[in-house]
Amino acid sequence: MLRELERRSPGALEDLRGDPISWLQSWSEVDLRLLGPRPDIPADSPRCDVEGGYRATALIPRIGIGRSTPARMNFTALHELGHHLQRTTDELVDNLGVRDDVGEALEEAACDAFAAAVLIPDQIASDVLGDATPAATDVAALWARLPAVSRQAIVVRASKNLQTDGHIVLLTEEGVVEICASRGAFRLPRGSHQQHTAIWDAHVRTHGATAETRTRFRYSSGLEAGETMYAQATTIGKGHVVIVAAVERVPWQLSVYHDTRVRYGKSWTCERTSCGASFVATDVCKTCGTPVCPECNYCECRTVDEFNCVECFLIKPIAEQSAQVNVCVGCAG
Ligand SMILES: [Zn+2]
Ligand SMILES: [Zn+2]
Ligand SMILES: [Zn+2]
Ligand SMILES: [Zn+2]
Repeated sequence: MLRELERRSPGALEDLRGDPISWLQSWSEVDLRLLGPRPDIPADSPRCDVEGGYRATALIPRIGIGRSTPARMNFTALHELGHHLQRTTDELVDNLGVRDDVGEALEEAACDAFAAAVLIPDQIASDVLGDATPAATDVAALWARLPAVSRQAIVVRASKNLQTDGHIVLLTEEGVVEICASRGAFRLPRGSHQQHTAIWDAHVRTHGATAETRTRFRYSSGLEAGETMYAQATTIGKGHVVIVAAVERVPWQLSVYHDTRVRYGKSWTCERTSCGASFVATDVCKTCGTPVCPECNYCECRTVDEFNCVECFLIKPIAEQSAQVNVCVGCAG
């Protein structure tokens, strides 16, 4: 998407990084509207995990941005620009085809990644985070270095460094998820409550100092699901907490993978965040061994026919995956 932007508006990146909203207001491709706080987003907009919307139905596509802090509004504006680029690039529209929940989740993640890449210079990110899975304290340090950038963008950029399945989660001090960026695992839904998980309990016990433990997370059903991960939690500015969680190879302790999934015959929660059904596992997939959800037929090896290229942030059909995982043939060169 960065390349697509460069193609349409050469040299835009610098100005866009400086002031995304002013830049978009003067750009002829979209009609940018500033809305009130918590705006009603029309149903034909993507179901965004930020407070904004994108509508291509009007003569000039419209981007709406809910009122919030300047840092958040910048992130929202760039996320919605991401939808515009995705949906108005011929090659990409063809790729999208008929979308399902997995495709929508990929598009959301791609728009978040695009917004973070515009806002955060790569050099600063790699100086602070290194090139492997970061600690929560590293994520907080990156935000301290770039305080004008929203914490959402910081979390999304940091997730690019996850080396194994895991999450980087931004939460309110009440333990409600504001944004979650994940690798391998399903994203924790925005608005989900993580109180009474092992890591949140540890965080509360330390009174805001850095906490570490093994933990699972809660999905939309409110039940814990997914793998048990190594997790570290720390505060990131006033009123916010960041958690880094991964199944192994975390920087704050020796960590080795052990399979902790609940097996056959136990109660189970569908890990697809859009489903989240709770059921007693009776059918187990012969290929991957995870219970098959009776509501949506999900199991862990369910084939996803699209992926989000980590280099260009575009959603590509799986046939265009290069020898490198999650890098398209175009980017692999
Ligand atoms: Zn969106
Ligand atoms: Zn399901
Ligand atoms: Zn399976
Ligand atoms: Zn690519």
